[in-house]
Amino acid sequence: MPNTRISIPKLKRIALVAHDNKKRDLLEWAKYNRNLLERHEIYATGTTGETLLRELGLDIIRLQSGPLGGDQQIGSKIVSNEINFLIFFWDPLEPQPHDPDVKALLRMAVVWNIPIACNRATADFMISSPLMDGDYFRIVPDYEVYRSRNIGKST
Ligand code: PGA
Repeated sequence: MPNTRISIPKLKRIALVAHDNKKRDLLEWAKYNRNLLERHEIYATGTTGETLLRELGLDIIRLQSGPLGGDQQIGSKIVSNEINFLIFFWDPLEPQPHDPDVKALLRMAVVWNIPIACNRATADFMISSPLMDGDYFRIVPDYEVYRSRNIGKST
């Protein structure tokens, strides 16, 4: 499949999400990286956003709580190129009521080739990357080939 390139501009639109057992981790990470985060536009699911606002006073666009559709809202914004960077500390030890939504969100991040960190180490590497300071062009398959696939239309 041929590729196309989609810009991630210098001002990134970053989504922050953490499951309940990971909220402390995300809070500590965001506190440490607060100055870097403030240079970008921050989105978060409901309770994660509330915690970050309360504890750090970060300016955040808050979506629904994850189990109430917040993960799906982020997925949708990845598809429409409104969010282009995802920090998602999901809990590997607890089943979640919205596991299908979690899987769908991770899948959309891969389909659209946006940077995604699922733990603190990856988030540290991502946020400190020199690529944060400029435009970046993510390579995405040209899905036109997929859209125009032959699905048995009569000739
Ligand atoms: P929350 O959602 O920030 O509203 O807790 C996170 C999630 O579970 O996806």
